[in-house]
Amino acid sequence: MSGAGPLMSTLKLKKHADGIVLDYGHVRLALDTGIKGETTLLTHGHTDHLRGVEKAHRVVATKATIDTLGARGYGVKGRVELLEYNQRIGQLGVVVTAINAGHVLGSSMYLMEFDEGLSVLYTGDFNVVDSMVHRAASPVSADVLITEATYGTPEWVFPSRKSIYNDILTTTTEVIENERIPVFLAYSLGKAQEAIALLQWGGFNVVSGNHRIDEVCNVYNQHGSDLRHTSLKQGDAKNLFSDGCAIVSSSFHHTRNNVRAALGDRAANRVINRMEHYSLSGWTLSDSSKTGFPLSAHADFKGLKKFAKKVNPRVVYCFTGNASQFSGHLVDDGLNAVPLE
Ligand SMILES: [Zn+2]
Repeated sequence: MSGAGPLMSTLKLKKHADGIVLDYGHVRLALDTGIKGETTLLTHGHTDHLRGVEKAHRVVATKATIDTLGARGYGVKGRVELLEYNQRIGQLGVVVTAINAGHVLGSSMYLMEFDEGLSVLYTGDFNVVDSMVHRAASPVSADVLITEATYGTPEWVFPSRKSIYNDILTTTTEVIENERIPVFLAYSLGKAQEAIALLQWGGFNVVSGNHRIDEVCNVYNQHGSDLRHTSLKQGDAKNLFSDGCAIVSSSFHHTRNNVRAALGDRAANRVINRMEHYSLSGWTLSDSSKTGFPLSAHADFKGLKKFAKKVNPRVVYCFTGNASQFSGHLVDDGLNAVPLE
């Protein structure tokens, strides 16, 4: 590890389950995973980051992260230590600060400041643009950056949020004018709430396609959002299908079943036949098999690079898909970067 300096010598990072285990001196921390008897720093409530967390002695997370997990039936075992943004928590040898990650409600990066002077920033999943419901992550300086690299290659540069929003609203207007029903497929945590907030702001009636979205929306509202969609379980959803509405769904399959349960087979089939499906995902940018809009909860290539440069670390470790390509691009830009493999 040339140029990393003497402080780096004892920092060890190892992939574990879907997360990372960090060792520095006598401190061991599990990042988005869990080790028996140790502390876990949990960045957010997407369940692909939970593997092994049940083994943790203590889980550090924001209240919103615990609430969004609870809304979808996931409890966290072990002692939970709640941390607000910019609040610091100490344990022997290290002080940890939670920093807004801009990815979903409650998502947090963690700045770890070790007694010996080394600082490490772990991003988890993050986004660097403001959305209708989330504020962009801001970089803080650190000696070591551990960053996601989901969209870490140059073809992943998204249009501005404003232009994606305009496209979604324009399409919604056109589809409804044609007496069709736009159905937007979005993750139940994060993207679905952003879509509902946007469509609501655009003046459209919004129906949620499945109950999981309703539960997460309740948590967003408890934490300050004002999402006012109609659930399929409410009687007036039926009228909205004839008056004109958009549906936000995290599962087309569940949505179709829920429409059948709400309307009965004959009426449901008429509604289902009017549906036009769109994915809300960064991957739609280059996947021609997916009709939709590149609404991403992750930073794009430019955003990842700009963020890494602002952190100004002595070394960057990249994780997730595209980690090795992204670290190569950072090296080209003069940063000392390696993939975590
Ligand atoms: Zn995530």
